[in-house]
Amino acid sequence: AHVLVCKGTGCTASGAPSVFSAFKEELAKRKLDSEIMLVETGCHGMCEMGPIVVIYPEGAFYCRVTAEDVPEIVEEHLYKGRIVERLLYTVPTDMTKVPHYKDIPFYSKQHRIVLKNCGYINPDHIEEYIARDGYQALAKALTQMTPEEVLEEVKRSGLRGRGGAGFPTGLKWEFARKAAGDKKYIICNADEGDPGAFMDRSVLEGDPHAVIEGMLLGAYAIGADEGYIYCRAEYPLAIKRLKNAIKQAEEYGLLGDNIMNTGFSFHLHIKEGAGAFVCGEETALMASIEGKRGMPRPRPPFPAQAGLWGKPTNINNVETWANVPQIILNGADWYSSIGTESSKGTKVFALTGKVKNTGLIEVPMGITIREIVFELGGGILGDKEFKAVQIGGPSGGCLTKDHLDLPVDYESLTGAGAIMGSGGLVVMDEDTCMVDVAKFFLEFTQRESCGKCVPCREGTKQMLLLLEKITNGEGTMEDLNTLEELAHMVRRMSLCGLGQTAPNPVLTTLKYFRHEYEAHIRDKK
Ligand code: SF4
Repeated sequence: AHVLVCKGTGCTASGAPSVFSAFKEELAKRKLDSEIMLVETGCHGMCEMGPIVVIYPEGAFYCRVTAEDVPEIVEEHLYKGRIVERLLYTVPTDMTKVPHYKDIPFYSKQHRIVLKNCGYINPDHIEEYIARDGYQALAKALTQMTPEEVLEEVKRSGLRGRGGAGFPTGLKWEFARKAAGDKKYIICNADEGDPGAFMDRSVLEGDPHAVIEGMLLGAYAIGADEGYIYCRAEYPLAIKRLKNAIKQAEEYGLLGDNIMNTGFSFHLHIKEGAGAFVCGEETALMASIEGKRGMPRPRPPFPAQAGLWGKPTNINNVETWANVPQIILNGADWYSSIGTESSKGTKVFALTGKVKNTGLIEVPMGITIREIVFELGGGILGDKEFKAVQIGGPSGGCLTKDHLDLPVDYESLTGAGAIMGSGGLVVMDEDTCMVDVAKFFLEFTQRESCGKCVPCREGTKQMLLLLEKITNGEGTMEDLNTLEELAHMVRRMSLCGLGQTAPNPVLTTLKYFRHEYEAHIRDKK
């Protein structure tokens, strides 16, 4: 039997380390530790129900397990072969069945490509990644494909950057490949900083080799021999897992010089960021790696021409890199058959807020917001009314119940005034004040503005002062018009993506919930 204990961020916060220790102790006490494999895994996604323990071969999905429950699980399930029903996740349609992933509504509409191994393998053991087809895509690319063919496959797959902008990945790689220069770099942007977002963190903690393999394939396609993973220092477990994964890949000859005796070499380093939100912007991130202050610079030149230390550089985020091995292994046709006409594949979201099942989900592009909130999410907490959903974090926008049937793809979201962003999804109920929501996100971006350009530095400050005036009951209708004018100005005139998108929460709430701003002014509260 295998006992899988989730030690993802959510389960760790709800007590998974003590559950893991209790299993270790109990199995040793009963001399079962040589027969039963106890595995520490990454995030299963269903953080709301953590700590989660899954026992195979039955696939019993135990939820909210405490250290005190462990002796009973060992005695009943592992010793006597009887399922501990009181701890099982309850499948609404069949109360007698041992629930498997596919039986649970939270998982039934998910399509796991990036999260394929999260929750199944021990991320500290490269052998477990290899056992689930790990590094096979690299072997296929290095022995059967030219760099041009790898690039073409990624282009044909339709993969677009998952960091927010949605730029076609293959095209971006092509710019770097075609750029003149012997020395080229690739970078993994793991500077996830949106409030409520933990997608990249979960992938790095649960399956670091998928990111490393994706980077190896990208380096081969572009012609780079060196890469950096820029990860915020607030993610110590992700950094520990990455360091271990890099060491193991080097020991297996999968990183370093002359990989698999093919003549291809690639060296990978980790750079720990200090947690500035603006360092998620490509040019600020590269400045930070170079040891300079993390501030954006005007483009052109684009990183593909003059990036890290002036050399051609390609940057993709964690989720984008983690998709690449599956594309090379299963082919572009397979990948492009998932999703919509213009948005292929899947997207990972951190589902949070006033929803019953909070956690990490990976869904095919084109799924509707209604399906995410009411089927995967289980509906609104306390069965209250759904009011809005904030998509894309502080750079995104709020959508209303009129958008519940909107397909989640790049174009539909942009058309409605939101953006895909990196994948934060915050659900709000009827009691949420949308002006407070806009103020919360603007406070965040204002605080994180690097101050280099006036429209962002001063514009967001003035917008925040107006929002404070309105929420303090001192605002006027003229303030509302000034707020809107300022928001458009900051969006148009700011130098980088942070300033250009900072007004989005204000603009979408003004568009869809203007009456709430007016109520603050009219009712003076
Ligand atoms: Fe800095 Fe804001 Fe200007 Fe970006 S837009 S460079 S974060 S001041």
